[in-house]
Amino acid sequence: SVVHGSGPAAAAAETAVEKDARHVLHPWADLSALGEQKPLVVRGAEGVRVTDTEGRTYLDAIGGMWCVTVGYGRRELIDAMRAQALKMPYYTPFGDVSSEPAAELGARLAELSPGDLNRVHFTTCGSTAVESAVRIAHFHFAARGRPEKKHVLSRVDAYHGSTYLAASLSGKAADRTTFHYEDGWVHHLESPAHDPDTSSVPAADHLAALIDRMEAEIAAIGPENIACFIAEPIMASGGVLIPPPGYHEAALDVCRRNDILYISDEVVCGFGRLGHFFSSEAAFGVVPDIIVTAKGLTSGYQPLGAVLVSERIAEAMAAAADRSKPVFSNGFTYSGHPVACAAALANIEVMVADDVCGHVRDVGPYFVRRLRELRDHPLVAAVRGDHLMACLECRVPGEEDGPTARNQALAQRVDRHCEEAGLLVRPFENLCILSPPLVVTKGDIDRIATITADALDAAEHDLRAQGVG
Ligand code: PMP
Repeated sequence: SVVHGSGPAAAAAETAVEKDARHVLHPWADLSALGEQKPLVVRGAEGVRVTDTEGRTYLDAIGGMWCVTVGYGRRELIDAMRAQALKMPYYTPFGDVSSEPAAELGARLAELSPGDLNRVHFTTCGSTAVESAVRIAHFHFAARGRPEKKHVLSRVDAYHGSTYLAASLSGKAADRTTFHYEDGWVHHLESPAHDPDTSSVPAADHLAALIDRMEAEIAAIGPENIACFIAEPIMASGGVLIPPPGYHEAALDVCRRNDILYISDEVVCGFGRLGHFFSSEAAFGVVPDIIVTAKGLTSGYQPLGAVLVSERIAEAMAAAADRSKPVFSNGFTYSGHPVACAAALANIEVMVADDVCGHVRDVGPYFVRRLRELRDHPLVAAVRGDHLMACLECRVPGEEDGPTARNQALAQRVDRHCEEAGLLVRPFENLCILSPPLVVTKGDIDRIATITADALDAAEHDLRAQGVG
């Protein structure tokens, strides 16, 4: 074992990779390898590429974490952040105090959002936006004299974040391990995922069964006890799981009939990833009661989340609030941070000026088509995608599909081969998830498809060398 010195001289001699391995506990760290993994320390980034501390450059097909949408190094965003930091880096957002960027961004989001979702509650990230959306639903019903409406409907395979309630709302089996999960008033409906390539059930039949069971679950809990239903338009981290056509419209209809608020979690699916600023209405035909957004809101340049609330709900909250307790006691020191709001405003300007959503509508189908060419590869069980979100499901030939240990190891192997060839994809269980910056060109997409195909071939070669397949 290595004996590490201490003190400033020893610390200075260590590389960032070594310091990180010794001292940083990463989000979602694999603890079986704590201190032994060689972290990828990213030092620089430009366009759709990132460079590590050893000088290797990668095409970033993860978009940071679904979030870097206009690409790295955009001066417009950086200049706006700098200008705001120089002018006024921070002031409290509480009570009746605000900042110019927060006010401007509130108005801009109201313009871009569907329906009457004109009231914006800023937070710090996606998880805090999800939590705040549920608290708004609770506050709303309490204000209307219905404090018993507290239960929340979520779905198996969902991902809504990593604070305690957001993690409880999430429904990915693999994540529900060591912690406590709120199950007294959080309920998970089944995953709506339907893959026409692999399912033997027609989409319309699947949809009818899903909605029947949703109604049955609501009846069992009692609609008088349920505040809200939360759903990603397409489940992102769960593995790009796409519901059957008409699902969101039918679910919204069920919610309306039962006085349940519909919260659309557009943390991934908003801000251009599906070709629209907001996808609920434009891509799925629903105007939700509440939309949650984060990530692409600032292109990942600053942490920021926002909850867009229907005017109807905000007015009901205000009109009916118990006058002895009229304060909406929810929010964070850094809610709507002025530098983050300045980044978001510049990001929206860039997106409009460059017609980033139009570009996604143009290259998105090409991205999905190129990846779907890999469907027949012996190591691929399925390819799913919509515009610039996609995933490959890996399978050891001749073995069952799904997140078995061997299929997971295979996805990691494919990921490693991609990385060696200069492409970053994201392994999750037996999946490789791809969500490139929205400014990818068709040339970049060709490169992503070629490297991924080569990585699958290399992984197949490895398996043969081990006598498998
Ligand atoms: N909702 C969805 C759909 C997400 O994908 C994520 C993050 N991947 C979150 C919420 C949580 O966002 P954050 O990590 O910013 O808290």
